[in-house]
Amino acid sequence: MAGTQYSARYKAKLVLEALRGEKESETIAYENGINPNMLRKWKQEFLEKASTVFEDSREAEKTPIRKEASLKEARDQMPKTIVRVFFPSCSRTYTYYNDRFPLQPGDRVFVEGSMAGVQGEVLTAVPANGQEAPRVLSAADVQVSGTFLQARSHLLTFDPAALPYQKFLSWVLPPVPELAEGPESAPIRLQDLEGLEVPERIFSRGADYYRDGRVWYLQQTGTVVRAVVQGTHPYPVRFSVQEGLVRRLNCGCPCEYVCKHQVAVLLQYKKLLRRIQDIPERQEDWTAAAKPVFFSCALDANPRAVLRMESKTE
Ligand SMILES: [Zn+2]
Repeated sequence: MAGTQYSARYKAKLVLEALRGEKESETIAYENGINPNMLRKWKQEFLEKASTVFEDSREAEKTPIRKEASLKEARDQMPKTIVRVFFPSCSRTYTYYNDRFPLQPGDRVFVEGSMAGVQGEVLTAVPANGQEAPRVLSAADVQVSGTFLQARSHLLTFDPAALPYQKFLSWVLPPVPELAEGPESAPIRLQDLEGLEVPERIFSRGADYYRDGRVWYLQQTGTVVRAVVQGTHPYPVRFSVQEGLVRRLNCGCPCEYVCKHQVAVLLQYKKLLRRIQDIPERQEDWTAAAKPVFFSCALDANPRAVLRMESKTE
């Protein structure tokens, strides 16, 4: 069933059935021919998002006037523009309304409407005079400054502020909620990833992704690792790691556990750790970005960027 898409309504129906508690989750999964891990994942996601149903309205009740006023103030200061955006993936240009970002030609943006989720490049931004158009939703933050070391396919830094996760996400994805931790399950030993309990087909697809340099980003902060993999779309992946044991794997894709994106990330993570072992001034926390995506976003998309190179004798 890997790769099958389930509708939100279907997921909600099964989760509510599980929450009613009349049947075991395993039974419900079995009756519907789905993996129990997947149902568990849906349930967790459902419960995590449950509070937001109440949060928004309550916040609004508390401070309706002040909130609106400060929003309005911020909007008034930002010039209202109509932006022409080019989408390289389909060679089309569309028009958007923007009063949130100081956009200039060349900036990378995500928009609402029919091109939602597809990255575009700003061609022109001119003052708006009352036109109706879909909006610009986010703009890539391409300001990167720090020292990066060679790590074969990737550039590596020990400076947590050089390329934080949220900044990298803004390069490749429209605003998305942070990916939650995965469910607790048997820990995976980094030492023998080849022994991963996944179908051979999934493992070899994941290994292809890893070899093709599709693991665009990896960041370790304490025991938490966050990554971005280029699949059909860029997907966030996260897990925790302690003493060589990987736990609570999760992926933003609709596949069931364990997916090819997770396999690719684990292989890339292991490879980078090996490189890091050789660096005398290494630190616990580190960030790595694949060279192609780094150069296309931090350099090509930022005409003011300066690249300083030096050779170190170790
Ligand atoms: Zn996945």
